[in-house]
Amino acid sequence: MNDLSHLKADFPVLENGVHFLDSASSSQKPIPVLEAMDRFARGSYANVHRGAYKLSVAATEAYEGARRRVAEFVGADDDREIVFTRGATTAINTVAFGWGLENLEEGDRILATEMEHHANLVPWQMVARRTGAVLDHVPITDECRLDMDAFEKKMGPDVKMVAVTGMSNVLGTIPDIAAISRIAHRHGARVLVDAAQRVPHLPVDVTEMGADFVAFSSHKMLGPTGIGVLWGRMEALEEMEPFEGGGEMISDVTLHTATWAGIPHRFEAGTPPIIEAVGLHAAIDYLDSIGMEKVFDHDKALTAIALERLGDVPGLAIQGPKDLEDRGGVISMDMKGIHAHDVATILDEEGVAVRAGHHCAKPLMRRLGVTATARASFYVYNTEADVDALVSGLRRAGELFGVR
Ligand code: PLP
Repeated sequence: MNDLSHLKADFPVLENGVHFLDSASSSQKPIPVLEAMDRFARGSYANVHRGAYKLSVAATEAYEGARRRVAEFVGADDDREIVFTRGATTAINTVAFGWGLENLEEGDRILATEMEHHANLVPWQMVARRTGAVLDHVPITDECRLDMDAFEKKMGPDVKMVAVTGMSNVLGTIPDIAAISRIAHRHGARVLVDAAQRVPHLPVDVTEMGADFVAFSSHKMLGPTGIGVLWGRMEALEEMEPFEGGGEMISDVTLHTATWAGIPHRFEAGTPPIIEAVGLHAAIDYLDSIGMEKVFDHDKALTAIALERLGDVPGLAIQGPKDLEDRGGVISMDMKGIHAHDVATILDEEGVAVRAGHHCAKPLMRRLGVTATARASFYVYNTEADVDALVSGLRRAGELFGVR
């Protein structure tokens, strides 16, 4: 395992010794991110794209510089393919409403999967209702992988959009997006990847992935809340109408009509998340200084240790792939006879922070036959000691509830 234990000192929140295993929900922020935002807010802040004065020009350069950095980080061909949003949720809604209302009609199908986060399900339900399109789903196998045979069978010329997770926030499953994109494109469908859990943890090259839209959030990748990214292939972005109207997204406005600014600004109505863009830039620099291959290897090494040690905990079932193939560092656990919230509360008493609940994936919970799970998720600042604390906390929970 790559030794990243020295990184822990960069994360002030972790100084109190908490075993933080909830990064799939939101990650902690390292000092370079906090300092970059603080420095910018104190020294260079102004609104962007508006002022002729120096401070505004500098702020605009910082904001557009963040766009260039994101483009480089995900391998986009063109900076203009990066749209800043409020988060992954807004990025997906921007496509669902901006693309969906323009391009879907009665008789069309949208194909999602059974393991989507509500963020990649509910917007499509809303758009299906408005357009008359039908929302269909690809099942998962009993091994908690996407059923690729079923996917191929469900594809057809009536499928116009395939909406798929880049990595399940419940199971850790990583679908083969390149294969999905190839099949979808053969049938003329567009592909949107909810990469909220993927971009923070795996090397991502949007060109290699081959999808048309990729959505992710800064706060899950060491950056601040309040900013996310929609990457769109230029020709796919050109098929979209703006989802929100307002300042900054227009070319001209009369009392009755408006014309749009160029891409990407037409999709960024209103004052954008400027300080947050600076923070995201710093977060990407931080991740890149580690190297995304190393980040993923580290997550995987901790997952391997955890899966092995959790296997010996009485009454514990893992919901998700049991091997490491195409799997990230998210482990959902179900403990016989103990509600996930009780498990999480006992773990909290032991200084271990995990999430409990349906993880915004209620249809998946139903498919798994559970109402909730306790979920541990790993990131760069976690160590083997965090895994050990998790395992011993779970043993204690089992003892308290008399689980054998
Ligand atoms: N998609 C997945 C897989 C997620 O895990 C999350 C957040 O938990 C989201 C989408 C939504 O991200 P955000 O709340 O940052 O918009």
